[in-house]
Amino acid sequence: MTGTDVIIAGAGIIGLSTALELAAQGIQVTVLERKRAMSEASWAAAGMLAASDPENPPQLQPLSDLSISLYPEFLARIEHLSGLSVPFRTAGTLQAVQNDESRLLSEDIARRIPELNSAGWQFLWLDEHSLDPRDLCAALPKAARAAGVHILEDSSVIGVRPMSTGVEVTTLTASYTSTHFINCCGAWAGEIADRLNIEPRKGQMVVVSLPPNLRLDYVIRTPELYLVPRGDDRVVIGASVERAGFDKTVHEATIQTLLHKAAHLWPPIQKAQIVETWAGLRPGSPDGFPVLDACGGPNCWVATGHFRNGILLAPGSARILCELVLGKTPSIELSPFRYDRFAKVSVY
Ligand SMILES: Cc1cc2nc3c(=O)[nH]c(=O)nc-3n(C[C@H](O)[C@H](O)[C@H](O)COP(=O)(O)OP(=O)(O)OC[C@H]3O[C@@H](n4cnc5c(N)ncnc54)[C@H](O)[C@@H]3O)c2cc1C
Repeated sequence: MTGTDVIIAGAGIIGLSTALELAAQGIQVTVLERKRAMSEASWAAAGMLAASDPENPPQLQPLSDLSISLYPEFLARIEHLSGLSVPFRTAGTLQAVQNDESRLLSEDIARRIPELNSAGWQFLWLDEHSLDPRDLCAALPKAARAAGVHILEDSSVIGVRPMSTGVEVTTLTASYTSTHFINCCGAWAGEIADRLNIEPRKGQMVVVSLPPNLRLDYVIRTPELYLVPRGDDRVVIGASVERAGFDKTVHEATIQTLLHKAAHLWPPIQKAQIVETWAGLRPGSPDGFPVLDACGGPNCWVATGHFRNGILLAPGSARILCELVLGKTPSIELSPFRYDRFAKVSVY
């Protein structure tokens, strides 16, 4: 391929990871971003790489495993290209479950997280990492540019037209041609593709700062709440899962509910100070799985719908999209992620 071989719409973690993966194969990539790179869901995430969360549907496991296996190489490449570090911030999670034979003993729980209120829960230990997505926001666009990817911000894609020799992609002010097009527009992906049933799922979050005599070393997660320490005095508490259209307003009542639940689970949080609140829009599909497939005509592809796990699933999704564009056999079976599955579901 020559010239701009691939145009990607959307410079979130999915679009930029895919651009980086393609660039590593010598492919010329342009990314068109409506606002600023890494300014939407990928900026708003907690950053857990929750591949072993028992709440995850089993269909996600092969893609999760692929992603986790690629993560060390993915971060090393970003750090090498950008000169910026993206460290893991935690190296273990206490996962609350109702019943499990491999649960931790209460003394093990108390040793890892003193004062955790385990009433009503059993806890599993998961060897799981988290990162701070703000580190990725700084490093990933810089790494992609250093790899030769053109990132054009303030460039909203409004039309995609397959042609006999490639694809024409139109923004409000210009039109571009390329051999391939990939829609990585997150919660907005359905706006530029027919019958792509993607809906925003709002998540509100609060970050608190612990006083100097307190520390939390591990992620605490229940099916409805998580506390994610950043390795300094900060703890991220999240997150709501709401159907609110594209609204990103932060509501005090929702933040207070998160704080209340967090303090019930880990009472020392009552001594913490609020430092930041925000909301982001997860890309949600009807069954909660990503869409990684051809979509909208020859040489047109889509990678979206990563819902609550887009940070985890980014390197694996990037590898898959690169394989699809290059006509290679995908590393995993892609039937759970097909574009046409919603049409079949809606018959019933
Ligand atoms: C509160 C919250 C907590 C989360 N926590 C975690 C977590 O702990 N772990 C985890 O793995 N995942 C988590 N997620 C999910 C994760 O953030 C998302 O799945 C992931 O960021 C999706 O990435 P994306 O690139 O598809 O979308 P985005 O990051 O939203 O990027 C899409 C981009 O497309 C651009 N765009 C839209 N329309 C157009 C257009 N027409 N033309 C050009 N550009 C366009 C947007 O401006 C945006 O920059 C969380 C999400 C939220 C909201």
